[in-house]
Amino acid sequence: MSAFDSLKDTLEQRKQDHLYRSRRTLNAAQQPETLIDGKPVLAFCSNDYLGLANDPRVIERFRTAATEFGVGSGASHLVNGHSAEHHALEEELAIFTGRDRALLFSTGYMANLGTINALLDHQDAVFEDKLNHASLLDGGLNSGARFQRYLHNDVTSLDKRLSKDQSRRRLVVTDGVFSMDGDCAPMADLVQTCQQHDAWLMVDDAHGLGCLGDKGQGLCAGFDQNQVQVLMGTLGKAFGTSGAFVAGSETLIETLIQFARPYIYTTAIPPAVAAATRTSLHIVQQEPERRAHLQKLIQTFRSEVAAMGLVLMDSPTPIQPVLIGSEAETLAWSQALETQGILVTAIRPPTVPKGTARLRVTFSASHTEAQLERLLTALQQIAQQRGIPEVAL
Ligand SMILES: *Cc1c(COP(=O)(O)O)cnc(C)c1O
Repeated sequence: MSAFDSLKDTLEQRKQDHLYRSRRTLNAAQQPETLIDGKPVLAFCSNDYLGLANDPRVIERFRTAATEFGVGSGASHLVNGHSAEHHALEEELAIFTGRDRALLFSTGYMANLGTINALLDHQDAVFEDKLNHASLLDGGLNSGARFQRYLHNDVTSLDKRLSKDQSRRRLVVTDGVFSMDGDCAPMADLVQTCQQHDAWLMVDDAHGLGCLGDKGQGLCAGFDQNQVQVLMGTLGKAFGTSGAFVAGSETLIETLIQFARPYIYTTAIPPAVAAATRTSLHIVQQEPERRAHLQKLIQTFRSEVAAMGLVLMDSPTPIQPVLIGSEAETLAWSQALETQGILVTAIRPPTVPKGTARLRVTFSASHTEAQLERLLTALQQIAQQRGIPEVAL
């Protein structure tokens, strides 16, 4: 026996279960036509929904801010890493979301973990949608609160569970836009149910912010901090940079500063990233034409794909899964696309329920209509070669 033999066995088992994951290397910027493992590809899988990751104005602000502030922030926010750029971004995010305050975290994963843990302990209960993002589930599980999952987007199921619970604090947690299905949480119903039961509502709007709403305020636009007490957003998706934030009342934000360990014990994101994000935030609000173009791509895709007889999910967002059904067939479709130089991720169980394996197509405002056309032509050809998969939701 040598060191790590048992780890090797575990890795081997994962391969046999067809769950082994490996990485590709991007050799250029995040944009629709890029280089992956040295080869040119047309990608429909990034979260750069508004095409800001490689926007010249965002890059230029990043460059000038790095000259002014250096590269690393050098410390955590509570020591001396909290720069004027971080502070200004927090103030602008608070205004953007219509909240008292916003607080920057280094990643969305850490924001979710830190927030749920700061708000709840073993005297409390957390109620999570079955399809919530892993970071929300991990946050709930780690908090020590009584952990419950309700049926996806099912307010009746949530209501039943809330009725039976007598805990001190009750936190209902949901994705705004669900990352694997692209559908939206029933906000008005959730707000009403939480108010009836005197529970707090936390919405993770990682995929809604920037993409939905007149000015990109996302799914919580129109719901104030008395209705959605905890609003979380990420900066690595539509904003095209990196990091995350939580927005809400003065009391919420002060609680997080005091008690959220993933906030306290980590280095602040580089000030230049905060500065570049301020430019992104400005563009998000000032250029609604990006959202309009994105919606046009989505609508064309949906009507053309439905006409081919393929099954789509009920999604008004840039996440457009095409249901294939079996794992092997989904992989075959994804590989057939790849031989044509088109990259679309195959999503399989256990990420999604068995029998619902899918191609997860994501759109960006930086995709052109000609690029969409290439994808549609490729899907049409594969459908002719392989047949339309039989799949039911
Ligand atoms: C991406 C994502 C996160 C994690 O955000 P990062 O900044 O990438 O860590 C959290 N929640 C949801 C719903 C996400 O899609």
